[in-house]
Amino acid sequence: MLTLLFDIDGTLINTGGAGGAALIEAFREDFGIDNPAKVPFSGRTDRGIGTNLFAQHEIDDSPDNWQRLCDGYLARLPVHLPKRGGRVLDGVLRLLERLESQESVAIGLLTGNLRDGARIKLSYFGLFEHFAFGGYGDKHRDRNGVAGEAVAAARQHADGSFDSQRVWVIGDTPLDISCARMINAKVLAVATGMHPAGELADSHPDVLLEDLSDTDVVINALS
Ligand SMILES: [Mg+2]
Repeated sequence: MLTLLFDIDGTLINTGGAGGAALIEAFREDFGIDNPAKVPFSGRTDRGIGTNLFAQHEIDDSPDNWQRLCDGYLARLPVHLPKRGGRVLDGVLRLLERLESQESVAIGLLTGNLRDGARIKLSYFGLFEHFAFGGYGDKHRDRNGVAGEAVAAARQHADGSFDSQRVWVIGDTPLDISCARMINAKVLAVATGMHPAGELADSHPDVLLEDLSDTDVVINALS
């Protein structure tokens, strides 16, 4: 079984910043912070972003506050998605359909998004049905923890046919590459997010592509 673990933002879709806008609006309105601090989003987990925001504003990083931020974010995300002109990235739908037509390929997610945030984003863009399992950013402050969760989910999904030597992570940030190394996976890095190919090359992915538009090239690489 070939296992493919896809990142979401900057790899499958570009939401035009809808996720960040929904999160910041939730923080502003539900926590009364007029000017939330700028914290890095790219490659981070939602749990980690929450911790950073709380720390910047000296808010207790408690389960209750985290739940309040999640609830506020998930309520606003469907409102922001249609406003932002996001899109499915080039070649993604064609690639997923081709992969699905192949035997012995398991397609999952390895994302810093909340599980429900991933579902809302991918459903909005008509991609959610393609992913049977995943690792998510609800609990892990660090992407390496998400990678471990994704592998455990892949193993369970494969029901005995999981092959730890045939796991790929497909992502758009240096953090996707480093978390893949933590699970001994290969990496296809794609320069459709915030990081240009030259910068991704510094992290030594196994394969580096400008985008996923050439389905044959991608499928030949992932084997
Ligand atoms: Mg990404």
